[in-house]
Amino acid sequence: MADDGDPDSEAMIEAGRILFAGACDFVMGAAREDQLPSTDLAEVAFAGRSNVGKSSLINALTGRKALARTSNTPGRTREVNFFELGGKLMIADLPGYGYARASKSSIANWTDLVERYLKGRRPLRRVCLLIDARHGLKDSDRAAMKLMDAAAVVYQIVLTKSDKMKDGPRARLIGKIQAELAKHTAAHPEICATSAVKGTGIAELRAELALLALEEKFSQSTI
Ligand code: GDP
Repeated sequence: MADDGDPDSEAMIEAGRILFAGACDFVMGAAREDQLPSTDLAEVAFAGRSNVGKSSLINALTGRKALARTSNTPGRTREVNFFELGGKLMIADLPGYGYARASKSSIANWTDLVERYLKGRRPLRRVCLLIDARHGLKDSDRAAMKLMDAAAVVYQIVLTKSDKMKDGPRARLIGKIQAELAKHTAAHPEICATSAVKGTGIAELRAELALLALEEKFSQSTI
């Protein structure tokens, strides 16, 4: 069954493949809370430090080379960028944080918009918090986690660039992050290790997100 609830099942992997093979359209960029688009779809947001590999991951998930480049173009980097996937899932690409050269006011803007988004966004089902496998958790990531704990938004750690790490150190890093996650109320316990370059973990993450889209459909059909 496609909705048996296990993201690792073959059926869910297939459901994820089909979902992400569908049309994926740029909806809009929102610079202010009052610009956030309304939607009936389940929404998944992607967050992480600048240069973490967020665009590469979104492009790998959707199988489109230049989709998330839209969000990396000047003028759009401080916005929340929305994409609609096959009429079934909304993807929100949050602005990158922790960029060393970003001015204090742009960091304040990030916090302000993202905090409002996280606290008030009803369709938001999960945030994928991207962490560079080579660097592990940084203070700026911890600050983002604190924000999401406060907003009671479920977030899942997704390691990026895991091709840059050997199995042993990667397993140790995952163990270390998991121990830290146990202290966070809103953290999803599973960590997903991905590589946009090698394609590792992409099918599994698609399946995980397809499950959220399916759950939304199910909950709406039973209202
Ligand atoms: P963003 O700023 O978070 O959107 O990051 P980008 O997707 O633009 O990636 C930042 C840099 O990391 C680029 O040089 C990418 O080529 C590189 N990168 C992204 N994903 C991977 C990956 O899975 N493996 C490796 N080795 N490099 C990656």
